[in-house]
Amino acid sequence: MRLGIDLGGTKIEIIALGDGGRELLRERVATPQSAYEDTIRAMRDLVVGVESRLGERGTLGVGIPGTISPVSGLVKNANSTRLIGHPLDKELSDALSRPVRVANDANCFALSEASDGAAAGKDIVFGIIAGTGVGGGVVISGHVLNGAHAIAGEWGHNGLPRITPEELAASQRCYCGRDNCIESWCSGPSVSRQYRSRTGRNVPVHTIVEAARSGDADALRIIEGFYDRFARSIATLVNILDPDAIVLGGGLSNISELYEELPPRVEYHAFTPQGRTLIVKNRHGDSSGVRGAAWLWQEHETG
Ligand SMILES: [Zn+2]
Repeated sequence: MRLGIDLGGTKIEIIALGDGGRELLRERVATPQSAYEDTIRAMRDLVVGVESRLGERGTLGVGIPGTISPVSGLVKNANSTRLIGHPLDKELSDALSRPVRVANDANCFALSEASDGAAAGKDIVFGIIAGTGVGGGVVISGHVLNGAHAIAGEWGHNGLPRITPEELAASQRCYCGRDNCIESWCSGPSVSRQYRSRTGRNVPVHTIVEAARSGDADALRIIEGFYDRFARSIATLVNILDPDAIVLGGGLSNISELYEELPPRVEYHAFTPQGRTLIVKNRHGDSSGVRGAAWLWQEHETG
């Protein structure tokens, strides 16, 4: 049996997977908003509870909104700031007397979709989470590519490729301190901002998409710009990784037009003279985080 925990800012979810990724049990509790130690205790209690109910011991993987620095062994880049600076994997491992694997939540998403999701059976998989931010994770032959600094796949903070004079004139400062990151042009809030500066109307992306579907010229213009920038951004990772599949997750992955609009545009911007990269919607949706955490241990490792 393999256990996965998705540690979020507001909830902690646990899943138990049996043979072939079959779900045995799943539950969630609110993330303690008190001391960091309470978060460790809550995760330990979840594992102990699930194992006593199922009468079996499992391997444990945890997805976190950040990463463990290979240099310091401490959590970094987490938007749940309470976690930053703690050796979360080691402390949880001590609390449960077993090794614990911890990975970034975008990496867990990619691993879940590569294991038994929309990219099952594909060798090189890039998972993109596009919503309030833009992030990614790389899975090769069923293994997460972490990287020397545990930032492999964090492509949302690359500069927007093939930036135009018009885009430079409307330069966007990213929260990371750099200008014109992919995220600062292609996230949901940034697409809303572009629409607002054109029309004065402040609406979420799905409203802009619906307006474009009914032929609204401003909405069409903004959405076309988004397709083009997103495709340019994806083309740069195609040139480096040449993935067998790219899986989209996050709120923007619900825009059904993306799966028609992106492939020819990516083909145009990438080096491949012909040959389209497979770009697909996720299969497991919000469950990919917790499922991918469980998949941090391969089936043959459960013993
Ligand atoms: Zn940035």
